Amino acid sequence: MKKRFLSILLAALTLFSAMSGFISCSDKELEAYEGELYAQVLPIKNGAKGIITIVHDDGDYNTVKYMNMQLGSMGLTASVAMVANKVVDVNGKETKDAEKWQTLIKESGFDIVCHSQEHSFYGLTDEAHSGSYEHRDNGTVEYDFPAGNITNMTAGAAQRLRTVFKSSNQKVCTYAIPGLPVLDSAYNGLNEEASRILAENFVACRYSGGSATYGDVTVPFMNDLSNINYQRLNSYTTLTSGTSEEWIKYVDDAIQYGGWGIFLMHQIINQETDYIYNVSKEKAVLLFRHIRKQVATGDLWCASLTEATLYTKEVETAVAFAEATGKGIAVTVYDELDDNETFDQPLTVKVQVLDSWGDVARVKYDGKKFEVPVYTADDGTKYVMVDVAPDKGVALINKG
Ligand SMILES: [Zn+2]
Repeated sequence: MKKRFLSILLAALTLFSAMSGFISCSDKELEAYEGELYAQVLPIKNGAKGIITIVHDDGDYNTVKYMNMQLGSMGLTASVAMVANKVVDVNGKETKDAEKWQTLIKESGFDIVCHSQEHSFYGLTDEAHSGSYEHRDNGTVEYDFPAGNITNMTAGAAQRLRTVFKSSNQKVCTYAIPGLPVLDSAYNGLNEEASRILAENFVACRYSGGSATYGDVTVPFMNDLSNINYQRLNSYTTLTSGTSEEWIKYVDDAIQYGGWGIFLMHQIINQETDYIYNVSKEKAVLLFRHIRKQVATGDLWCASLTEATLYTKEVETAVAFAEATGKGIAVTVYDELDDNETFDQPLTVKVQVLDSWGDVARVKYDGKKFEVPVYTADDGTKYVMVDVAPDKGVALINKG
């Protein structure tokens, strides 16, 4: 309650300081307007009905290159769950492949997700300990870990990835839990201690699988955006045995049920083999084209893992304010998250404008000026949609 009051106070103060800095001609109609204008944070970016995230696991260079070519031409994005040792060793020394990855990630704009340092068992506790476990393919494996090993293989790996991908400003604030071929479930890298360390260091962890139930159907997507378990985000693995029709249905279900579906894709290759995790380009491209089609209708938001996580988390506590002033309609957004550096994902706000406005409005925000369409709501009011980051200044909207 207290925090909300503070938000309103902050809104008034920010507005005042923003206003005093402007020297543009005033809008007489807005200045005289005395009614309330609604400002509503939308649960999904741009008012879409569902979210889809494409995550490639492990870091296969040719797959990411292919995804960049296909998705890039379609205006879509993706995340790369990178096993850190593909680009940097445990001492922080870059591998010979680091440079080509830096170039590809910068060019694609893809989001880097930490997928552990080595994709292998990293211990049961952060204290020094030794023992053995049963590996599916390798039999009994002996281990001897130093203190802090879990932290180093997860949070440490993320820190090293941040350094390697500095040129593309990667936050590396999300984690993709690796599936390990270890027979004893206590050794799958997800015991209580490991989960606690992950929760302390990552805003979200994508699980390899998981499912959600709606009605009498169980699907691996999250159909209730207000009730997400961020430390175990469900995902749907594309398998050789899967069909593009099944994957397309998963996309359409996310839209129909207002949910968030995450694809877990391993290698995308020319010709499928009997390795169950790799899928053909022929099938993958049908999925990508469908995603593009649904994005174009406005029903779907194709977001990286980081973007979607930050957006949905911010929405939980975000409030928007709109006020008619002589300089324009001033819009501000506040949330109750303390970490504004991580949580800077702009939220789409549906803002009422005056009935007299035409088809287009002008927006000035964060040093940029652009135009947005004016829509008419079911109740006859007119509105625009603008993206405003929480706790990050005022957007000013004017008649186009
Ligand atoms: Zn993996």
